[in-house]
Amino acid sequence: MIGLERFELGHARGGLDLFPRDPIDEPEAFLQAMREEGVEYEVLDAAALVERWPAWHVSDEVLAIHQRDAGIVAASRANAVHRRLALARGADLLPDTRVERISPDGDGFALETATRTYRCGSLVVAADAWMNEMLAPFGMHLPLRILQEQVTYFDAADPASFDPATFPVWIWHSAPHMYGLPSFGQPGPKVAIHGGGREVTPETRTFEPDPGYAAVVEGFIREHLPGAIGPPLEVRTCLYTLTPDQDFVLDLVPGTSNASFGLGTAHGFKFASVFGRTLVELALDGASEWRIPRFAADRPSLTQPA
Ligand SMILES: Cc1cc2nc3c(=O)[nH]c(=O)nc-3n(C[C@H](O)[C@H](O)[C@H](O)COP(=O)(O)OP(=O)(O)OC[C@H]3O[C@@H](n4cnc5c(N)ncnc54)[C@H](O)[C@@H]3O)c2cc1C
Repeated sequence: MIGLERFELGHARGGLDLFPRDPIDEPEAFLQAMREEGVEYEVLDAAALVERWPAWHVSDEVLAIHQRDAGIVAASRANAVHRRLALARGADLLPDTRVERISPDGDGFALETATRTYRCGSLVVAADAWMNEMLAPFGMHLPLRILQEQVTYFDAADPASFDPATFPVWIWHSAPHMYGLPSFGQPGPKVAIHGGGREVTPETRTFEPDPGYAAVVEGFIREHLPGAIGPPLEVRTCLYTLTPDQDFVLDLVPGTSNASFGLGTAHGFKFASVFGRTLVELALDGASEWRIPRFAADRPSLTQPA
């Protein structure tokens, strides 16, 4: 596979988890998980945070956890590499081909499209916001919440502060639950709310930015990252598909032993490779070491969400 070994798919310059007073997530849970997994981290108080990254304006009680090895996956490059690897292994890619219906067909499945019906012996479904629609013929309906989110790239007043060589990715663990990136892939930092959008369906979503959402983002950077203020370079909308516990689903389609499905529930991109392997193992062998109860489709938080 010529060239892929030198093709940069990631950028690891560190990540910050920021915990103001009364955070919505407990820092100790993060620290415990990192200790258990042997992840290196540093705990910084507000003064140490600001000394190292002066772009941050925070009050004294903010606690920061810095992970040196955290970073960013270059998503569209990573998708392109997955496509190229699939082609090299004999896959036929059919972009822009809508599956109208999946149904059991003997020991396998039939996938109807507008022009023909495809038959297969095993199947992986990764339809995210459209998952319930795709799996309705199997009697499956998960209590998914679909939100229209919006990410903004700013033409920052102080671009040097958001240089990806020095500025880490970050998450703000309080309401509004914010996250952002340095200038990576765009000539300005990205800032968004985690789960701040209105609830939609794939049919009702629009591609129009929401001014109320933009006001929350601008209010946050005005208070905490004033160097990021500037005209938006680009505002993009996208869909978040959330399970009630915001944990993944990796399982067999109910009633089958050769069809699997997976949901990344708004934080699954970084796991795409291992999710793909797991879903293929499930579809071909009916089992995978990753088919763990935490990601099962019949766990109580999905079957009895109330
Ligand atoms: C704003 C935002 C920020 C995110 N940030 C992060 C992050 O920081 N880290 C992280 O790890 N993850 C993140 N994610 C989540 C991550 O992007 C998703 O978990 C991941 O993209 C899900 O991949 P998927 O292949 O399951 O679904 P998708 O990428 O949504 O793909 C589903 C595909 O199914 C197709 N499809 C649907 N119905 C049909 C049909 N009937 N016939 C044919 N095709 C169909 C759709 O066209 C689509 O291409 C973020 C997501 C968003 C929206």
